[in-house]
Amino acid sequence: FSAIEITKDYLDRARKFDGSIKAFISLNEDAALRDAEAIDARMLKGEEVGLLAGIPIAIKDNICTRGMKTTCASKMLEDFVPPYDATVVKKLKEAGAIIIGKTNMDEFAMGSSTENSAFTATKNPWDTTKVPGGSSGGSAAAVAAGFAPLAFGSDTGGSIRQPASFCGLVGLKPTYGLVSRYGLIAFGSSLDQIGPFTRTVEDCALSLQAIQGQDSMDTTSYKGKIEGQYVSELQEDIKGLRIGIPKEFFQAGLNPEIAKAMKDSMEVLEKMGAILEEFSLPIMDSALSAYYIISSAEASSNLARYDGVRYGYRSNSFEGINELIVNSRTEAFGKEVKRRIMMGTYVLSSGYYDAYYKKAMLLRSKIKDSFANAFESYDIILSPTSPILPFNIGEKLEDPLQMYLADIYTVSINIAGVPAISIPCGFSRSKLPIGLQFIGNHFSEKQLLKAAYSLE
Ligand code: GLN
Repeated sequence: FSAIEITKDYLDRARKFDGSIKAFISLNEDAALRDAEAIDARMLKGEEVGLLAGIPIAIKDNICTRGMKTTCASKMLEDFVPPYDATVVKKLKEAGAIIIGKTNMDEFAMGSSTENSAFTATKNPWDTTKVPGGSSGGSAAAVAAGFAPLAFGSDTGGSIRQPASFCGLVGLKPTYGLVSRYGLIAFGSSLDQIGPFTRTVEDCALSLQAIQGQDSMDTTSYKGKIEGQYVSELQEDIKGLRIGIPKEFFQAGLNPEIAKAMKDSMEVLEKMGAILEEFSLPIMDSALSAYYIISSAEASSNLARYDGVRYGYRSNSFEGINELIVNSRTEAFGKEVKRRIMMGTYVLSSGYYDAYYKKAMLLRSKIKDSFANAFESYDIILSPTSPILPFNIGEKLEDPLQMYLADIYTVSINIAGVPAISIPCGFSRSKLPIGLQFIGNHFSEKQLLKAAYSLE
Protein backbone atom coordinates (compact mmCIF):
# COMPACT_ATOMS: atom_id res chain seq x y z
CA PHE A 1 0.00 0.00 0.00
CA SER A 2 1.10 3.55 -0.64
CA ALA A 3 1.04 6.20 2.07
CA ILE A 4 -1.66 8.04 0.17
CA GLU A 5 -3.92 4.95 0.04
CA ILE A 6 -3.49 4.27 3.73
CA THR A 7 -4.07 7.89 4.68
CA LYS A 8 -7.18 8.18 2.50
CA ASP A 9 -8.56 5.00 3.99
CA TYR A 10 -8.23 6.17 7.59
CA LEU A 11 -9.51 9.65 6.76
CA ASP A 12 -12.57 8.15 5.02
CA ARG A 13 -13.34 6.05 8.04
CA ALA A 14 -12.92 9.01 10.38
CA ARG A 15 -15.15 11.20 8.23
CA LYS A 16 -17.81 8.51 8.06
CA PHE A 17 -17.95 7.46 11.70
CA ASP A 18 -16.55 10.21 13.88
CA GLY A 19 -19.95 11.89 13.97
CA SER A 20 -21.02 9.26 16.49
CA ILE A 21 -17.70 9.02 18.41
CA LYS A 22 -16.34 12.59 18.36
CA ALA A 23 -12.71 11.62 18.77
CA PHE A 24 -11.46 14.59 16.76
CA ILE A 25 -11.62 18.32 17.34
CA SER A 26 -10.17 18.94 13.89
CA LEU A 27 -9.21 16.83 10.90
CA ASN A 28 -6.18 17.75 8.86
CA GLU A 29 -7.32 16.31 5.55
CA ASP A 30 -5.63 18.41 2.89
CA ALA A 31 -2.28 18.66 4.60
CA ALA A 32 -2.33 14.95 5.48
CA LEU A 33 -2.88 13.98 1.85
CA ARG A 34 -0.11 16.33 0.74
CA ASP A 35 2.28 14.87 3.33
CA ALA A 36 1.40 11.32 2.30
CA GLU A 37 2.02 12.16 -1.33
CA ALA A 38 5.42 13.60 -0.43
CA ILE A 39 6.34 10.42 1.45
CA ASP A 40 5.32 8.27 -1.52
CA ALA A 41 7.41 10.40 -3.84
CA ARG A 42 10.43 10.05 -1.61
CA MET A 43 10.02 6.29 -1.36
CA LEU A 44 9.69 6.04 -5.12
CA LYS A 45 12.99 7.86 -5.50
CA GLY A 46 14.56 5.35 -3.15
CA GLU A 47 15.23 7.98 -0.49
CA GLU A 48 15.53 6.88 3.07
CA VAL A 49 12.33 7.46 5.05
CA GLY A 50 11.78 7.26 8.80
CA LEU A 51 10.49 4.70 11.27
CA LEU A 52 6.83 5.66 10.83
CA ALA A 53 6.86 6.52 7.13
CA GLY A 54 3.33 6.87 5.79
CA ILE A 55 1.61 5.96 9.07
CA PRO A 56 -1.43 8.14 9.88
CA ILE A 57 -1.43 9.42 13.45
CA ALA A 58 -3.73 11.45 15.69
CA ILE A 59 -2.44 14.01 18.19
CA LYS A 60 -4.05 15.27 21.38
CA ASP A 61 -5.08 18.89 21.06
CA ASN A 62 -2.71 20.11 23.78
CA ILE A 63 0.38 19.27 21.72
CA CYS A 64 1.43 22.15 19.47
CA THR A 65 1.26 21.63 15.73
CA ARG A 66 2.56 24.41 13.51
CA GLY A 67 -0.14 26.03 11.41
CA MET A 68 -2.81 23.76 12.88
CA LYS A 69 -5.24 24.75 15.61
CA THR A 70 -4.25 23.55 19.08
CA THR A 71 -7.17 24.30 21.40
CA CYS A 72 -6.65 22.27 24.60
CA ALA A 73 -10.42 21.75 24.17
CA SER A 74 -10.87 25.19 25.71
CA LYS A 75 -12.70 28.30 24.63
CA MET A 76 -9.56 30.09 25.80
CA LEU A 77 -7.51 28.66 22.90
CA GLU A 78 -10.34 28.03 20.45
CA ASP A 79 -8.58 29.93 17.65
CA PHE A 80 -4.98 29.40 18.69
CA VAL A 81 -2.69 28.35 15.84
CA PRO A 82 0.83 27.69 17.15
CA PRO A 83 3.71 29.10 15.09
CA TYR A 84 5.87 26.08 15.98
CA ASP A 85 5.80 22.30 16.37
CA ALA A 86 6.21 20.52 19.69
CA THR A 87 9.46 18.53 19.70
CA VAL A 88 7.44 15.31 19.66
CA VAL A 89 5.55 16.51 16.58
CA LYS A 90 8.79 17.50 14.90
CA LYS A 91 10.21 14.05 15.58
CA LEU A 92 7.07 12.32 14.34
CA LYS A 93 7.15 14.32 11.12
CA GLU A 94 10.83 13.45 10.68
CA ALA A 95 9.90 9.80 11.17
CA GLY A 96 7.49 10.17 8.25
CA ALA A 97 4.22 9.98 10.21
CA ILE A 98 1.16 11.70 8.71
CA ILE A 99 -0.89 13.82 11.12
CA ILE A 100 -4.54 13.28 10.23
CA GLY A 101 -6.12 15.23 13.07
CA LYS A 102 -6.15 16.69 16.57
CA THR A 103 -8.10 14.86 19.22
CA ASN A 104 -10.62 15.82 21.87
CA MET A 105 -9.68 15.92 25.55
CA ASP A 106 -10.75 17.26 28.91
CA GLU A 107 -10.11 21.00 28.92
CA PHE A 108 -6.39 21.59 29.64
CA ALA A 109 -6.14 17.83 30.39
CA MET A 110 -8.11 18.14 33.62
CA GLY A 111 -10.44 15.20 33.97
CA SER A 112 -10.89 11.46 33.56
CA SER A 113 -13.74 11.16 31.07
CA THR A 114 -13.23 13.68 28.21
CA GLU A 115 -16.54 15.24 29.24
CA ASN A 116 -14.81 18.45 30.37
CA SER A 117 -14.11 19.47 26.77
CA ALA A 118 -15.54 22.89 25.94
CA PHE A 119 -16.66 21.52 22.57
CA THR A 120 -18.13 18.04 22.90
CA ALA A 121 -17.89 14.78 24.85
CA THR A 122 -16.15 11.81 23.22
CA LYS A 123 -17.84 8.39 23.31
CA ASN A 124 -16.27 5.02 23.98
CA PRO A 125 -16.22 3.08 20.67
CA TRP A 126 -16.88 -0.21 22.54
CA ASP A 127 -20.15 1.16 23.92
CA THR A 128 -21.20 4.67 22.99
CA THR A 129 -23.20 5.16 26.19
CA LYS A 130 -19.87 5.02 28.11
CA VAL A 131 -17.01 7.48 28.46
CA PRO A 132 -13.67 6.66 26.77
CA GLY A 133 -11.75 7.75 29.87
CA GLY A 134 -9.65 10.89 30.01
CA SER A 135 -8.15 13.24 29.67
CA SER A 136 -6.74 11.88 26.37
CA GLY A 137 -10.08 10.22 25.52
CA GLY A 138 -10.12 11.49 21.94
CA SER A 139 -6.75 9.90 21.15
CA ALA A 140 -7.84 6.60 22.72
CA ALA A 141 -11.20 6.60 20.91
CA ALA A 142 -9.48 7.43 17.59
CA VAL A 143 -7.33 4.30 17.78
CA ALA A 144 -10.09 2.08 19.20
CA ALA A 145 -12.50 3.15 16.44
CA GLY A 146 -9.91 2.51 13.73
CA PHE A 147 -9.53 6.17 12.71
CA ALA A 148 -5.75 5.98 13.19
CA PRO A 149 -3.35 3.14 13.99
CA LEU A 150 -1.41 5.35 16.41
CA ALA A 151 -2.28 8.32 18.58
CA PHE A 152 -0.44 10.44 21.12
CA GLY A 153 -1.63 11.90 24.38
CA SER A 154 -0.31 13.37 27.61
CA ASP A 155 -0.34 11.81 31.06
CA THR A 156 -0.15 13.96 34.19
CA GLY A 157 -1.90 11.56 36.53
CA GLY A 158 -3.19 8.77 34.32
CA SER A 159 -4.50 10.49 31.20
CA ILE A 160 -2.89 8.00 28.81
CA ARG A 161 -3.19 4.81 30.85
CA GLN A 162 -6.78 5.16 32.06
CA PRO A 163 -8.29 5.90 28.61
CA ALA A 164 -6.10 3.14 27.10
CA SER A 165 -7.60 0.78 29.67
CA PHE A 166 -11.18 2.00 29.00
CA CYS A 167 -10.73 1.61 25.23
CA GLY A 168 -8.87 -1.75 25.16
CA LEU A 169 -5.51 -0.33 24.03
CA VAL A 170 -1.86 -0.24 24.97
CA GLY A 171 -0.93 3.12 26.55
CA LEU A 172 2.47 4.15 27.88
CA LYS A 173 3.49 6.93 30.28
CA PRO A 174 7.27 7.14 29.85
CA THR A 175 9.78 7.98 32.59
CA TYR A 176 9.69 11.71 33.39
CA GLY A 177 12.33 13.36 31.20
CA LEU A 178 12.53 10.65 28.53
CA VAL A 179 10.22 12.47 26.11
CA SER A 180 10.48 16.22 25.55
CA ARG A 181 7.66 18.39 26.89
CA TYR A 182 8.56 21.30 24.61
CA GLY A 183 5.34 22.34 22.89
CA LEU A 184 3.10 20.35 25.20
CA ILE A 185 0.78 22.96 26.73
CA ALA A 186 1.63 22.68 30.40
CA PHE A 187 -0.73 21.39 33.10
CA GLY A 188 1.49 20.09 35.90
CA SER A 189 5.00 20.56 34.59
CA SER A 190 6.70 18.25 37.08
CA LEU A 191 4.25 15.43 36.20
CA ASP A 192 3.41 15.80 32.47
CA GLN A 193 4.75 13.32 29.91
CA ILE A 194 3.71 12.58 26.33
CA GLY A 195 3.17 8.97 25.28
CA PRO A 196 1.54 6.70 22.67
CA PHE A 197 -1.77 4.83 22.30
CA THR A 198 -1.51 1.73 20.16
CA ARG A 199 -3.21 -1.59 19.50
CA THR A 200 -0.08 -3.66 20.08
CA VAL A 201 2.98 -3.56 22.33
CA GLU A 202 5.21 -3.64 19.26
CA ASP A 203 3.60 -0.45 17.92
CA CYS A 204 4.05 1.10 21.35
CA ALA A 205 7.77 0.24 21.32
CA LEU A 206 8.15 1.70 17.84
CA SER A 207 6.32 4.90 18.80
CA LEU A 208 8.48 5.41 21.87
CA GLN A 209 11.62 5.00 19.75
CA ALA A 210 10.31 7.72 17.46
CA ILE A 211 9.51 10.34 20.12
CA GLN A 212 12.06 9.88 22.92
CA GLY A 213 15.39 11.60 23.43
CA GLN A 214 17.23 14.55 24.87
CA ASP A 215 16.01 18.00 23.84
CA SER A 216 17.72 21.29 24.58
CA MET A 217 14.31 23.04 24.45
CA ASP A 218 13.16 21.22 27.61
CA THR A 219 15.34 21.81 30.66
CA THR A 220 13.89 18.73 32.41
CA SER A 221 14.82 16.50 29.49
CA TYR A 222 17.07 13.60 30.55
CA LYS A 223 20.67 14.03 29.49
CA GLY A 224 22.03 10.56 30.24
CA LYS A 225 22.31 7.60 27.95
CA ILE A 226 19.03 5.93 27.01
CA GLU A 227 17.96 2.68 25.42
CA GLY A 228 17.66 3.18 21.65
CA GLN A 229 16.05 -0.09 20.65
CA TYR A 230 12.88 -1.55 22.09
CA VAL A 231 11.28 -3.40 19.20
CA SER A 232 14.11 -5.87 18.64
CA GLU A 233 14.16 -6.77 22.36
CA LEU A 234 10.52 -7.82 22.61
CA GLN A 235 11.07 -11.52 21.95
CA GLU A 236 12.93 -12.40 25.14
CA ASP A 237 11.17 -14.49 27.73
CA ILE A 238 10.30 -13.36 31.23
CA LYS A 239 11.59 -16.33 33.20
CA GLY A 240 12.81 -15.14 36.58
CA LEU A 241 11.23 -11.68 36.28
CA ARG A 242 10.37 -10.54 39.81
CA ILE A 243 6.90 -9.00 39.86
CA GLY A 244 5.63 -7.26 43.00
CA ILE A 245 1.89 -7.18 43.71
CA PRO A 246 1.06 -4.20 45.98
CA LYS A 247 -1.77 -5.46 48.14
CA GLU A 248 -3.23 -2.01 48.76
CA PHE A 249 -4.03 -1.78 45.03
CA PHE A 250 -6.33 -4.78 45.34
CA GLN A 251 -8.49 -3.77 48.29
CA ALA A 252 -11.89 -2.13 48.77
CA GLY A 253 -13.16 -0.17 45.81
CA LEU A 254 -11.75 -2.52 43.15
CA ASN A 255 -14.42 -3.87 40.82
CA PRO A 256 -14.54 -7.71 41.28
CA GLU A 257 -14.50 -8.36 37.55
CA ILE A 258 -11.30 -6.34 37.25
CA ALA A 259 -9.83 -8.21 40.23
CA LYS A 260 -10.61 -11.50 38.50
CA ALA A 261 -8.97 -10.38 35.25
CA MET A 262 -5.82 -9.42 37.25
CA LYS A 263 -5.76 -12.85 38.88
CA ASP A 264 -6.03 -14.61 35.52
CA SER A 265 -3.14 -12.57 34.11
CA MET A 266 -1.02 -13.25 37.20
CA GLU A 267 -1.51 -16.98 36.69
CA VAL A 268 -0.37 -16.68 33.09
CA LEU A 269 2.73 -14.76 34.16
CA GLU A 270 3.56 -17.36 36.76
CA LYS A 271 3.19 -20.13 34.21
CA MET A 272 5.69 -18.34 32.02
CA GLY A 273 8.23 -18.38 34.83
CA ALA A 274 7.82 -14.95 36.43
CA ILE A 275 8.10 -14.82 40.22
CA LEU A 276 5.13 -13.08 41.77
CA GLU A 277 5.05 -11.84 45.34
CA GLU A 278 2.61 -9.75 47.32
CA PHE A 279 4.01 -6.78 49.23
CA SER A 280 2.80 -3.63 50.93
CA LEU A 281 2.91 -0.22 49.22
CA PRO A 282 0.74 1.95 51.46
CA ILE A 283 0.77 5.14 49.38
CA MET A 284 -2.68 5.26 47.86
CA ASP A 285 -4.39 7.90 49.99
CA SER A 286 -1.36 10.12 50.26
CA ALA A 287 -0.71 9.87 46.52
CA LEU A 288 -4.17 11.06 45.59
CA SER A 289 -4.04 14.01 48.00
CA ALA A 290 -0.50 14.93 47.02
CA TYR A 291 -1.38 14.66 43.34
CA TYR A 292 -4.35 17.01 43.47
CA ILE A 293 -2.41 19.56 45.52
CA ILE A 294 0.76 19.50 43.39
CA SER A 295 -0.98 19.32 40.00
CA SER A 296 -3.43 22.10 40.90
CA ALA A 297 -0.65 24.29 42.31
CA GLU A 298 1.38 23.91 39.13
CA ALA A 299 -1.73 24.42 36.98
CA SER A 300 -2.60 27.67 38.73
CA SER A 301 0.84 28.97 37.91
CA ASN A 302 0.94 27.59 34.34
CA LEU A 303 -2.51 28.91 33.46
CA ALA A 304 -1.72 32.43 34.70
CA ARG A 305 -0.42 33.15 31.19
CA TYR A 306 -3.98 33.23 29.84
CA ASP A 307 -4.82 36.82 30.57
CA GLY A 308 -6.66 37.88 27.42
CA VAL A 309 -3.78 40.22 26.58
CA ARG A 310 -1.15 38.36 24.60
CA TYR A 311 -3.02 35.52 22.98
CA GLY A 312 -6.10 33.38 23.44
CA TYR A 313 -9.62 34.53 24.16
CA ARG A 314 -10.31 38.17 24.98
CA SER A 315 -13.58 39.37 26.45
CA ASN A 316 -15.53 42.01 24.54
CA SER A 317 -16.68 43.89 27.60
CA PHE A 318 -14.20 45.39 30.05
CA GLU A 319 -13.03 48.60 31.55
CA GLY A 320 -9.36 48.63 32.38
CA ILE A 321 -6.79 45.88 32.51
CA ASN A 322 -8.06 44.12 35.62
CA GLU A 323 -11.52 43.67 34.22
CA LEU A 324 -10.03 42.53 30.91
CA ILE A 325 -8.18 39.72 32.68
CA VAL A 326 -11.03 38.74 34.99
CA ASN A 327 -13.71 38.78 32.30
CA SER A 328 -11.60 36.90 29.76
CA ARG A 329 -10.89 34.12 32.24
CA THR A 330 -14.44 34.05 33.57
CA GLU A 331 -15.89 33.67 30.09
CA ALA A 332 -13.33 31.28 28.58
CA PHE A 333 -12.38 28.76 31.27
CA GLY A 334 -14.69 25.85 32.10
CA LYS A 335 -15.84 24.82 35.55
CA GLU A 336 -13.18 22.18 36.24
CA VAL A 337 -10.32 24.43 35.12
CA LYS A 338 -11.57 27.18 37.43
CA ARG A 339 -11.83 24.69 40.28
CA ARG A 340 -8.18 23.60 39.81
CA ILE A 341 -6.92 27.19 39.54
CA MET A 342 -8.72 28.11 42.75
CA MET A 343 -7.48 25.01 44.54
CA GLY A 344 -3.94 25.65 43.35
CA THR A 345 -3.97 29.30 44.31
CA TYR A 346 -5.32 28.37 47.74
CA VAL A 347 -2.68 25.74 48.55
CA LEU A 348 0.09 28.11 47.43
CA SER A 349 -1.18 31.14 49.35
CA SER A 350 1.08 32.32 52.16
CA GLY A 351 -1.35 31.38 54.95
CA TYR A 352 -1.88 27.82 53.77
CA TYR A 353 1.37 26.95 52.03
CA ASP A 354 2.78 25.01 54.99
CA ALA A 355 -0.45 23.15 55.61
CA TYR A 356 -0.91 21.96 52.03
CA TYR A 357 1.78 22.46 49.41
CA LYS A 358 4.71 21.85 51.74
CA LYS A 359 3.06 18.73 53.13
CA ALA A 360 2.36 17.48 49.63
CA MET A 361 6.04 17.89 48.77
CA LEU A 362 6.97 15.84 51.83
CA LEU A 363 4.52 13.15 50.76
CA ARG A 364 6.06 13.27 47.32
CA SER A 365 9.49 12.36 48.60
CA LYS A 366 8.00 9.57 50.73
CA ILE A 367 6.19 8.15 47.71
CA LYS A 368 9.40 8.28 45.68
CA ASP A 369 11.23 6.43 48.45
CA SER A 370 8.50 3.79 48.65
CA PHE A 371 8.87 3.05 44.94
CA ALA A 372 12.67 3.07 45.17
CA ASN A 373 12.46 0.53 48.00
CA ALA A 374 10.03 -1.65 46.09
CA PHE A 375 12.35 -1.71 43.06
CA GLU A 376 15.15 -3.10 45.22
CA SER A 377 13.11 -6.29 45.50
CA TYR A 378 11.11 -6.32 42.27
CA ASP A 379 11.78 -5.67 38.59
CA ILE A 380 8.22 -4.65 37.93
CA ILE A 381 5.02 -3.88 39.85
CA LEU A 382 1.63 -5.10 38.64
CA SER A 383 -1.71 -3.44 39.39
CA PRO A 384 -5.05 -2.73 37.76
CA THR A 385 -5.00 0.49 35.72
CA SER A 386 -8.38 1.62 37.01
CA PRO A 387 -10.55 0.40 39.90
CA ILE A 388 -13.68 0.79 37.77
CA LEU A 389 -15.03 -0.12 34.33
CA PRO A 390 -15.86 2.58 31.76
CA PHE A 391 -18.80 4.45 33.30
CA ASN A 392 -21.89 6.06 31.81
CA ILE A 393 -21.59 9.44 30.16
CA GLY A 394 -22.75 12.02 32.69
CA GLU A 395 -22.52 9.63 35.66
CA LYS A 396 -19.69 11.35 37.56
CA LEU A 397 -19.84 14.81 36.09
CA GLU A 398 -21.45 16.46 39.09
CA ASP A 399 -19.21 14.72 41.63
CA PRO A 400 -15.57 15.75 41.19
CA LEU A 401 -14.35 13.59 44.08
CA GLN A 402 -15.78 10.44 42.46
CA MET A 403 -14.09 11.50 39.22
CA TYR A 404 -10.74 12.00 41.03
CA LEU A 405 -10.98 8.48 42.49
CA ALA A 406 -10.84 7.03 38.97
CA ASP A 407 -7.10 7.85 39.06
CA ILE A 408 -6.27 6.20 42.34
CA TYR A 409 -3.92 3.61 40.76
CA THR A 410 -2.23 5.92 38.28
CA VAL A 411 -1.35 9.23 39.99
CA SER A 412 1.42 7.90 42.26
CA ILE A 413 3.44 6.88 39.19
CA ASN A 414 3.63 10.49 37.94
CA ILE A 415 4.54 11.70 41.41
CA ALA A 416 7.47 9.29 41.48
CA GLY A 417 8.36 10.03 37.82
CA VAL A 418 8.60 6.32 36.96
CA PRO A 419 7.19 4.74 33.78
CA ALA A 420 4.04 2.62 33.52
CA ILE A 421 2.14 0.89 30.75
CA SER A 422 -1.49 -0.13 30.55
CA ILE A 423 -2.31 -3.19 28.44
CA PRO A 424 -5.63 -4.87 27.65
CA CYS A 425 -6.25 -7.98 29.74
CA GLY A 426 -9.79 -9.08 29.03
CA PHE A 427 -13.37 -7.92 29.12
CA SER A 428 -16.14 -7.58 31.67
CA ARG A 429 -19.39 -9.53 31.28
CA SER A 430 -20.85 -6.40 29.74
CA LYS A 431 -18.06 -6.57 27.11
CA LEU A 432 -16.13 -3.55 28.33
CA PRO A 433 -12.31 -3.61 28.17
CA ILE A 434 -10.18 -4.10 31.30
CA GLY A 435 -6.62 -2.79 31.61
CA LEU A 436 -3.60 -4.04 33.56
CA GLN A 437 -0.79 -1.70 34.61
CA PHE A 438 2.90 -2.59 34.79
CA ILE A 439 5.03 -0.06 36.67
CA GLY A 440 8.80 0.02 36.25
CA ASN A 441 11.78 1.78 37.74
CA HIS A 442 13.16 4.94 36.10
CA PHE A 443 14.18 4.29 32.46
CA SER A 444 13.17 0.61 32.56
CA GLU A 445 10.90 0.95 29.51
CA LYS A 446 12.65 -1.94 27.80
CA GLN A 447 11.69 -4.31 30.60
CA LEU A 448 8.16 -2.90 30.86
CA LEU A 449 7.56 -3.44 27.16
CA LYS A 450 8.96 -6.96 27.38
CA ALA A 451 6.63 -7.86 30.24
CA ALA A 452 3.70 -6.30 28.38
CA TYR A 453 4.60 -8.22 25.22
CA SER A 454 4.63 -11.51 27.11
CA LEU A 455 0.94 -11.10 27.94
CA GLU A 456 -0.14 -10.35 24.38
N1 GLN B 1 -7.57 12.75 35.69
C1 GLN B 1 -6.44 13.39 36.28
C2 GLN B 1 -6.74 14.85 36.49
O1 GLN B 1 -7.83 15.23 36.26
C3 GLN B 1 -5.25 13.18 35.41
C4 GLN B 1 -5.22 14.08 34.25
C5 GLN B 1 -4.05 13.87 33.37
O2 GLN B 1 -3.29 12.92 33.50
N2 GLN B 1 -3.84 14.84 32.53
O3 GLN B 1 -5.92 15.61 36.90
